[in-house]
Amino acid sequence: MAFKERVFSGVQPTGNLHLGNYLGAITKFVALQEKYDCIYCVVDLHAITVWQDPAELPKATREVTAAYIASGIDPKKNIIFNQSQVAEHAELAWVFNCVARIGWLNRMTQFKEKVGKDRENASVGLFVYPSLMAADILLYRATHVPVGEDQKQHVELARDIAQKFNNDFGASIHAHGFGDLFFPLPEPIIQGPATRVMSLRDGAKKMSKSDASDYSRINLTDDADAIAQKIRKAKTDPEPLPGEEKGLEPRPEADNLVGIYAALQGVSKAKVLSEFGGGQFSTFKMALVDLAVAKLGPIGAEMKKLTQDPVYIDTVLADGSQRAQTIAAETMKAVKDIVGFVRR
Ligand code: ATP
Ligand code: MG
Repeated sequence: MAFKERVFSGVQPTGNLHLGNYLGAITKFVALQEKYDCIYCVVDLHAITVWQDPAELPKATREVTAAYIASGIDPKKNIIFNQSQVAEHAELAWVFNCVARIGWLNRMTQFKEKVGKDRENASVGLFVYPSLMAADILLYRATHVPVGEDQKQHVELARDIAQKFNNDFGASIHAHGFGDLFFPLPEPIIQGPATRVMSLRDGAKKMSKSDASDYSRINLTDDADAIAQKIRKAKTDPEPLPGEEKGLEPRPEADNLVGIYAALQGVSKAKVLSEFGGGQFSTFKMALVDLAVAKLGPIGAEMKKLTQDPVYIDTVLADGSQRAQTIAAETMKAVKDIVGFVRR
């Protein structure tokens, strides 16, 4: 069966939106709206899998919404909303908790990385995070999910859950007139030179909202001076840039900066090296500062403007939630029938 092509993705309102979120996810969201029907969520239910200050969470939710709009996502053409306003996300996640296997979740590397040695003290929500993510995607029967490299494993788990649901309930799906498959198997979209932007301080660590050092990341709201200072101080090695991509392999920090430049400029890493290869690192860094300020400056300024009008942001989220819920409610009705829940 052919499913209608639809894009779904989300960003957590956990503060400090950064260049990795922008290049790995948000720029892809913007590009996909030209061709697809897109739903972009601010995943606040995911955010509380680790502690969030209730006084900060609304601000962070509005900031992600502002980042979406400031980056060029049209909230009229697409759906922009926050997850907690559509209760069906939690409802479908429960069904998926009963479809997914503990062994599957035990393999998730994000959980292992986030809990470190303190597994016993992690929230149950953090462990079942991927079931909720599968529900986010499949509630809209989305077929494409643009994400950074770090979320690949979770999208694959969503496919496994969709497939097991389709198999386990195959007879019921058929009996209720939904054909052979109820859920599509969603595909991750992970492309381009910046699918995993690394920390500016440590080329082995992903750039992340939760890194204690602000110098590890470029925040979308950083001003020109902050961007310049962070890039100037970014860790590098003393060698000049290589002429070819192969030369970047043993040099994660250099590779990262070249990838950032390529993604911001919309060209390949090879193209960047053909321009800067053989030259001094400082020359390249200066060019990167100019490019980053030119691309991110206007977005940060627009975000600041938008967040000064929370009423407008909340209207966008309310309108998006209503439109999302119309689709979600249809899916949930069908799921209830398929599973065998008596309903009104
Ligand atoms: P947290 O530390 O709270 O998990 P995060 O920076 O990982 O924050 P998320 O909200 O979890 O941000 O992820 C939003 C999107 O940004 C996802 O698609 C994720 O894959 C992508 N993303 C996150 N970090 C990076 C990165 N360093 N490079 C590329 N993409 C990234
Ligand atoms: Mg994350």
